[in-house]
Amino acid sequence: MPGQQFQLTQFSAARERIGSAVLRTPMVPSPSLSERTGVPVFLKMEHHQTTGSFKLRGATNALLQLDEDTRRRGVVCVSTGNHGRALAFASKRLGVDCTICMSKLVPQNKVEAIRELGAQIVITGASQDEAQLEADRLVAENGLTLVPPFDHHDVICGQGTLGLEIMEDVPDAHTILVPLSGGGLIAGVAAAAKETNPAVKIIGLSMERGAAMAASLKAGRPVQVTEEPSLADSLGGGIGLQNQYTFQIARDLVDQVILLPETEIAEGIRHAYWQERQVIEGGAAVGIAALLNGDLKPEGPVVMLLSGCNIDMSLHHRIIGGENVDLAEETKG
Ligand SMILES: *Cc1c(COP(=O)(O)O)cnc(C)c1O
Repeated sequence: MPGQQFQLTQFSAARERIGSAVLRTPMVPSPSLSERTGVPVFLKMEHHQTTGSFKLRGATNALLQLDEDTRRRGVVCVSTGNHGRALAFASKRLGVDCTICMSKLVPQNKVEAIRELGAQIVITGASQDEAQLEADRLVAENGLTLVPPFDHHDVICGQGTLGLEIMEDVPDAHTILVPLSGGGLIAGVAAAAKETNPAVKIIGLSMERGAAMAASLKAGRPVQVTEEPSLADSLGGGIGLQNQYTFQIARDLVDQVILLPETEIAEGIRHAYWQERQVIEGGAAVGIAALLNGDLKPEGPVVMLLSGCNIDMSLHHRIIGGENVDLAEETKG
């Protein structure tokens, strides 16, 4: 079982290693969601993590495991989202050169945001795949080390530190709700939490539009899906046809996967804002959405992992104002 490659001692070691570089985010009760569901609901406020998402945990853990020589040559990734931000931030802190490859399609404001974090930027190609080819070239020819966003042992161990914190703060947790894309987050959290209490239920949440892990679990092997614009943009992208870790761990340790339509993700963002006074991105709103729409009928204490806050604030403004935003319509042009 691949989960066995991830033992409690490894998560504890990761926690020790990254402890001074990441926040131990708060766990707070949600009276409104507890009232609605009839069971205690707690929010793990990981959207307050430095860089605005949990990705800092995995990126920091991966960087700290590299030896001196490897660090001196620098690291590379292709993400322009939360992983890119996290890797750029962690690299700067540790004095490691970080290169982020991105396609010509990436909007200027995203390019600038990553540049401000101190990363070197290589703009190349017309797609994410072409940017990946450039990253592969930098690895092969210049000796850089690729730090991928999810399918990597040390990244998974870093994200799994969240599982330890959750089980410490809510030892009687019955169900943990985890946003799901490539599966690094859910693999780490599920392995760490189930080794602490094998009875705890792990539920993955994705958007209906282009949920690669859900489609792969259904097919019994990693498959590709068509990417579509979604409010949960940080949950987009594939799981990799050569997936090494996250597919098998998700298959073995995730109890259920729920897919949410765009209107309900928007409802989750609204609820977080008006009832909980929290700004969260679409990818973090899927758990709230599943509780609100009644897809999920929890039986005991629920922990909801709020994974990130990096949403375009003018988009957020429109959503909380009640506008019915459909990004697929808007990008048709
Ligand atoms: C990356 C990300 C996820 C999904 O994590 P995976 O490890 O890819 O499953 C969820 N929420 C936010 C905010 C993210 O940035």
